[in-house]
Amino acid sequence: MSAVPAASRVPPAPAVTNNRVAAALLALAAAEPGGRAATEYRAAARTLRGLGTDLFGRRFALASLPGVSLRAADAIGSFLACGSDENVDDALAAMLDRTDPAAGRKRDFLSRADTDRILSAPGGICRADLCGDLHLHTDRSDGRMSLASLHRALERRGDRYALLTDHARECAVAGGLYPADFRAQRREVDLLNARAESGFTMFLGAEANIAEDGTLDVTPRSVPEVCAVVASVHTDLRSPRDQTARLVRAVETPGVAILGHPKGRLYDMRSGVRADWPRVFAAAAARGVAIELNGCPERLDLPPALAVLAVDSGCLFSLSSDAHAAPHLSFLDFGLAVARLACIPASRVVNAFSRDRFAEWLEERRAADRPQS
Ligand SMILES: [Zn+2]
Ligand SMILES: [Zn+2]
Repeated sequence: MSAVPAASRVPPAPAVTNNRVAAALLALAAAEPGGRAATEYRAAARTLRGLGTDLFGRRFALASLPGVSLRAADAIGSFLACGSDENVDDALAAMLDRTDPAAGRKRDFLSRADTDRILSAPGGICRADLCGDLHLHTDRSDGRMSLASLHRALERRGDRYALLTDHARECAVAGGLYPADFRAQRREVDLLNARAESGFTMFLGAEANIAEDGTLDVTPRSVPEVCAVVASVHTDLRSPRDQTARLVRAVETPGVAILGHPKGRLYDMRSGVRADWPRVFAAAAARGVAIELNGCPERLDLPPALAVLAVDSGCLFSLSSDAHAAPHLSFLDFGLAVARLACIPASRVVNAFSRDRFAEWLEERRAADRPQS
């Protein structure tokens, strides 16, 4: 499959990965719900997934790692001594007296160490190819950064442009903006752009919520100040029903530029929607709608295997952080790592377009709103 050539250049993973040890710690936590041990195992798992280096084969005072208690350090030490990820699974099964029922919801995610290892390989799309981030929240919806501080952080980082995507009011998961709020946000964005000395441009978008029938709560038709939207699912994410029609209807809605976190999966929590993915990707490719590689490590959505399928379907891609706070801005790296694994060339990534080409592409998505003559 097309992921193989790039994957083969990636330095091999250590015999025991931080990722697998973290998954095992979470299984221990789930087996002892509510107690102090569960809290400690969860905190240690979070630390391991965020470490820039794998622990296997290194000399570390495990209990000196932030958030790692003596009890968790003991468990980590014994998992690292297993010698392989498979042996970690066996040791865990012996401890639990069954296989980890949540194992499938923790596979195909990347730790920070995995991501850095993948990006250390030469060749392929890299950070310098990306001109900006296309999925960003402020404190006007459920984020923690003010619009001005987000604008300043992106400009200082040297980004050329960004797409701001706060939620609209109807989204079930987060307080969001009414049309009048988007109009006010547009005025503020225009002012900040005018003051930017580097030529950095923030485009005003929104994260539209895809209702269960595939309709959206905000589009450029309902709020003309919004250039285009990232459309994403936030409800009915554990349903066994096929949700192809929901996603295709959203993708085919004029003004949709990006299908955001398409599966709606969450690490250790849920697998997300079921759909006929080749049909969803074909609809997106036909419309020039980009498929998001959401870099939030809890989402990592699309997963790498589906990203390969989307490449083969001819899709465009958007790499994004879905940042809700300043430290999340680096999550773009995780999306980049998935792009590397799926051998996605920079020419297929819309946030690798020049500013003018990107603006034109947004306008094309919006122009689909106008009646065809
Ligand atoms: Zn979302
Ligand atoms: Zn979001």
